Amino acid sequence: MTEIPLQDHIAPNGEPMTVRDLASCPPPERWQDWMEYDAKAWPRKVERHYELIPTICFNCEAACGLLAYIDKETGRIKKFEGNPYHPGSRGRNCAKGPATINQINDHERILYPMKRAGKRGEGKWERTTWDEALESIAAKIRAAIVENRRDEVMYHVGRPGHDGYMERVLGAWGVDAHNSHTNVCSSSGRFGYHIWCGLDRPSPDHANARFILLISAHLETGHYFNPQAQRIIEGKMKGAKLAVMDPRLSNTASTADYWLATWPGSEAAVLLAMARIILVEKLYNREYMRRWVNWQEYLAAEHPNEAQTFERFIELLIDLYAEYTPEFAAGESGVAAEMIVDMARQIGHAGTAFAAHTWRAASAGNLGGWQVPRALWFLSVLTGSIGTPGGTAPYAWNKFVPTPFLKPGPTDVWNELLFPPEYPLANYELSILLPYFLKEGRGKVSAYFTRVYNPVWTNPDGTAWIEALTNEQQIELHAALTPTWNETAWYADYVLPMGLASERHDLMSQETHAARWIGFRQPVLRVYEERHGKPVEFTYQANPGEVWEEDEFWIELSWRIDPDGSLGIRRYFESPYRPGAKLTIEEYYRWMFENSVPGLPEAAAQEGLSPLAYMQKYGAFTIPEEKAPVFQINEQAVKPDLLQGASVDAQTGVLTSGGVKVGVMIDGKACEGFPTPSRKLEFYSATMKEWGWPEGAVPGYTHSHVHPSQIDPARGEYLLIPTFRLPTLIHTRSHNAKWLNEISNANPVWIHPRDAQRIGVQTGDLVRVTTDIGYYVNRAWVTEGIRPGVVACSHHMGRWRLATGTGADRWASAKVELGKGQDGIWHMRQVEGVRPYESKDPDSSRIFWREAGVHQNLTFPVHPDPVSGMHCWHQKVTVTPAQRGDRYGDISVDPHKAQEVYQQWLAMTRPQTQRSDGLRRPLWMLRPYKPAASAYQRAQSIREK
Ligand code: SF4
Repeated sequence: MTEIPLQDHIAPNGEPMTVRDLASCPPPERWQDWMEYDAKAWPRKVERHYELIPTICFNCEAACGLLAYIDKETGRIKKFEGNPYHPGSRGRNCAKGPATINQINDHERILYPMKRAGKRGEGKWERTTWDEALESIAAKIRAAIVENRRDEVMYHVGRPGHDGYMERVLGAWGVDAHNSHTNVCSSSGRFGYHIWCGLDRPSPDHANARFILLISAHLETGHYFNPQAQRIIEGKMKGAKLAVMDPRLSNTASTADYWLATWPGSEAAVLLAMARIILVEKLYNREYMRRWVNWQEYLAAEHPNEAQTFERFIELLIDLYAEYTPEFAAGESGVAAEMIVDMARQIGHAGTAFAAHTWRAASAGNLGGWQVPRALWFLSVLTGSIGTPGGTAPYAWNKFVPTPFLKPGPTDVWNELLFPPEYPLANYELSILLPYFLKEGRGKVSAYFTRVYNPVWTNPDGTAWIEALTNEQQIELHAALTPTWNETAWYADYVLPMGLASERHDLMSQETHAARWIGFRQPVLRVYEERHGKPVEFTYQANPGEVWEEDEFWIELSWRIDPDGSLGIRRYFESPYRPGAKLTIEEYYRWMFENSVPGLPEAAAQEGLSPLAYMQKYGAFTIPEEKAPVFQINEQAVKPDLLQGASVDAQTGVLTSGGVKVGVMIDGKACEGFPTPSRKLEFYSATMKEWGWPEGAVPGYTHSHVHPSQIDPARGEYLLIPTFRLPTLIHTRSHNAKWLNEISNANPVWIHPRDAQRIGVQTGDLVRVTTDIGYYVNRAWVTEGIRPGVVACSHHMGRWRLATGTGADRWASAKVELGKGQDGIWHMRQVEGVRPYESKDPDSSRIFWREAGVHQNLTFPVHPDPVSGMHCWHQKVTVTPAQRGDRYGDISVDPHKAQEVYQQWLAMTRPQTQRSDGLRRPLWMLRPYKPAASAYQRAQSIREK
């Protein structure tokens, strides 16, 4: 057997690994016919032959590679293993990757398109055809477009699983329709990075770091966790120190050199104290800061009478952060001052090899949570570790999104249900507020898609979503595109089954490490059939039942919206190879692989393959670094064609060409810089000041809504962390994976022994957790793994269904009664927990767990951060022993109180509706689907066009 080097794959002894080292990773020359002995036939040696086809996991956003083992005798998928040729995951997966086989074989999955047969939410369904569903939905969308109600279409996505496809579809339709889950996920995490550097996610090079700082639990469960976890361990094995800020002793914290059990919301204070030490002790990277921080702009705006020198800037910085002493940070956070000093020095000495990452956690939990990534990035700026080997890059430097053929221009529509005037700086759509906006009459939705998204269960105040979804004046048509049953699909008009990891096409790239790669998700049974001479027109013909994929669905829908091409939509869905003919999904990807991926055609040619065949064979490709560099992109010279005719601002050095900022002069060199107004790293944000938040113009520390001053332990009040993940589950999608539910099937309330003793509860006892709008009843888990005064409950469990057979899978859901009393209060009670049952899967009769967890999110009011729009998840709660009559899983929600809390948080906003420039939002800031500049003008009403 030849030895085939694995990309970036290092053995524990530091040597590059080969396929031969990994006996469980068959080499690709044998993927056509791979033999394994049948384990169940043991001790007989019965050969099983498999064809191995690569695809991409769909159970989280990390996009790890999978290999589907297709049994050549049955034509069925036997199992999934890792794809060793995938640059991000390198053959390794977490438990959720191989558990894809459970989801595919789940006997309760949705196999056919369905249409409601009764009232919405009544739970009556009838099977329909794809054709009927497409015609009906297309008619609704076509009417909205033709009648210029282009703000009445809404596509609400949880897990996109692709890069750019849907933005192209919505662009072709000319609607402002992109809604996302991001403001229950990462709006604040993103905002803190965005305001510094114009890009909104970090990409640490953990493997080469000397010091790694994580805020939350990335190694075990976080963003891109398997690919990043591998590299954190590599870094540690090479001597890097690992520090974790997390009030909970996560698996990650348990492997760290430093565990900082900070009071939630105090993280920015600790980080700023570290920044001050690095400044005072002159551990900062002077040259990097002098060249790349917009200190001149800060001095000119805030200290015009001071010497306009870098040295004076540093002195003023030290003054500015004078109050952030280690003792102050220790007082806020509860972390020892000595540890803060020690860590600050280690970070300073790590210099350009300081890797740092935060995503949800503190950012997602707290009012002003965006100050946490902002303060963390400050440390990266001070150490000059932005985009260096061992440092942290803006995500776009470690990601590659190929351009498709014929890209539509931006729409001229602005949808105020998505970006309302109160939140001009919101990082993503204000999706959690949609039910409130609809109730206030701010608009309506003609056609609403939920796609791999379950707002009734995932969002705060899910009962508000039930009320909106059952109001057919507010939402006229709801189509749920989903691979699994979920609580929101119950309130749909159409439930349309979409494919899992091995049942769909997608192209993905993620910032898993210091490289740029693409991964190709494929419907493996379709590929198998086509390889064996059986043509497949649509993916649902090869998938189980009639499970389809979104890519083909949108092409078909677009043709039905614009059948004769008169709306200008159809042309985006015509073949680039066969003029006028309908685009096939193979052609869509083939064109990109041939034309938009540097180095792929050459690599394919070396193997005598077409670019498409190469991607179908290996499932992933790393862009050669000489074609797409990954380090310090800001230092790159501005391209000569952009320099021609460019003008330089004498004061700021910013280069402008054709009205667009293209770079900045640094020490006489025209550099690309960062996509910010100054093209530098914006320590000072004029944007914040101009848009109503002058106190946020520089990195700072905001007192969270759950700051200790807001919580009175004497009254039995605690801070509830409801956001933490378990490594074996993913939100709403893993409930039909039996192996995962066997591993994780409870979400008790973590409580410190001291607190448990005070209220008199022990592990397993029922407690009532009361929020501002209601309560839930759950079991206590007494543990020293949580800091005193704080309780925590994982958000993964508590799935529920109103019937059996539809609504949610029995592996992980409780049957409940849900209703509104005379007093207007919502109540939920579990009437049947998880039970063994007979089915064609013998494992269903072996279920040993009895509870499905508790759905805590229903009891949370909305807390939209007034700047980023992020829902601030942490709650002030009381925790008491359960009361007489309380039962496990009970939930109570008062919608009137929920409305009051919504109003209180809305009152914290600072709308900028009277601006002389008429802008709704700064033009330079990101929007996931960005309309044309004309749509940013507030005077432009869609109805007037
Ligand atoms: S980390 Fe796990 S769930 Fe996420 S893509 Fe990788 S294998 Fe799948």
